[in-house]
Amino acid sequence: MDKFSLLAANCLILTVFSVSFLTAFHDMKRERFWRTWVSGNLFLAAALFFYIFDTGLPEMLAFIVPNGLMIAAFARYNQGAMQFNDRKVCYLRLLIPMGIMLATSLPAHISQNYALTYTVTNLMLAFLATATAAEYWSRRTDGLSSRYGLAFSFMLMAASFALRVAQGIGTESNLLFGLTDEFLLSVHLMIALVFVTTIGAFSLSLAFERKSAEQQDAAHRDPLTGTFNRREFTLRLKELLQRPERGNFAVVQFDLDHFKSVNDRFGHGAGDEALQICTDIMQWHLREEDCLARVGGEEFAALMPEISHSEALEIAERIRATIADTPLHFAPEDVRLTLSAGIYHGKGDGMDHKQLLKLADDGLYESKHAGRNRVSLTRSDALTIVEDDEWNSTPPALIKSSAPKAS
Ligand code: GH3
Ligand code: MG
Ligand code: MG
Repeated sequence: MDKFSLLAANCLILTVFSVSFLTAFHDMKRERFWRTWVSGNLFLAAALFFYIFDTGLPEMLAFIVPNGLMIAAFARYNQGAMQFNDRKVCYLRLLIPMGIMLATSLPAHISQNYALTYTVTNLMLAFLATATAAEYWSRRTDGLSSRYGLAFSFMLMAASFALRVAQGIGTESNLLFGLTDEFLLSVHLMIALVFVTTIGAFSLSLAFERKSAEQQDAAHRDPLTGTFNRREFTLRLKELLQRPERGNFAVVQFDLDHFKSVNDRFGHGAGDEALQICTDIMQWHLREEDCLARVGGEEFAALMPEISHSEALEIAERIRATIADTPLHFAPEDVRLTLSAGIYHGKGDGMDHKQLLKLADDGLYESKHAGRNRVSLTRSDALTIVEDDEWNSTPPALIKSSAPKAS
């Protein structure tokens, strides 16, 4: 392909992807990276436009305008990657290269040799492309495979800019537009064609890959507290029961005490906040491998694999004690929320998930019956209200007899 066709093809692809980014942005207005990607594409298309047409600009402007647009484009791509990764954008990555390009183009104009500023500009473009590749690569642990495509595309472009840096260093000629060597220019434009096509395709697939993962995750979660929902909890419990080599595990049922009175006294909004506070406390005390779910309005369940009964009891008790000790900012200082819990501990041999949940629920019922604000433990089919020193690790608070009401 000749130079004109390559430039025009690049421009066309950039414009087409800009339109598709804008279409996607229309449906996902909260995601700012779409706009940044569009502006990156349009800056790059505008830069190429200046190479295609002789705009009749004075010599120095004919260098500054397209190169400034190129820097703006790659700085925007870099900012888009940072926004995608939920990082604060860095405007210095736009301002510093732009400043250096402008500062070096004045002596170039006076000496009528643009080799140095051409080299420096391409060096900065190579840096921006590499930094963008690194940005996409750095969060690859989120499992979005399109990140690899983007990291590869930006590295390819960085290599092409590096080639132009080498060209700038090795030449004596006046590289006004960087277009003097026809062969290298063709290589650069071919790489650019691969680059604009792949970043367009992979940017779209990356954003939709994440959207889909978020939607899948949301289907397993409770929207108010962010914990898993009942469906996911049951699934995980069933999965655990199917594993023949499973060790002892615990199923804990939590129920907030007199929660209705929290709503009645402080309003539904305060009740919602209390649910979130309790969830945070539960998550804080549970281990990473445990699964916490909201299984009813003010009812939660935790699945703790590979755990001893004393450890499970200790965690549940710590949750109970912390909640009973946490002041609620919407309530008077002396008001505390409490919860009751029932624990099943064992291997679950010969039982299905319903029977296990029933056993944990029996423990919960016993805790409620015995006065609330306490934890009861069931082992296999034996129910025990923890109120003596049967287990050394049982904290004394477990035998507390009266449950402070929330109101
Ligand atoms: P007990 O100690 O016997 O468990 O008493 P309780 O008041 O906690 O139990 P009850 O089942 O009578 O009431 C549960 C309350 O939980 C009723 C409902 O208003 C409240 N609730 C359920 N889901 C939500 C929610 O999403 N937000 C708020 N704010 N309240 C909720
Ligand atoms: Mg309840
Ligand atoms: Mg309750």
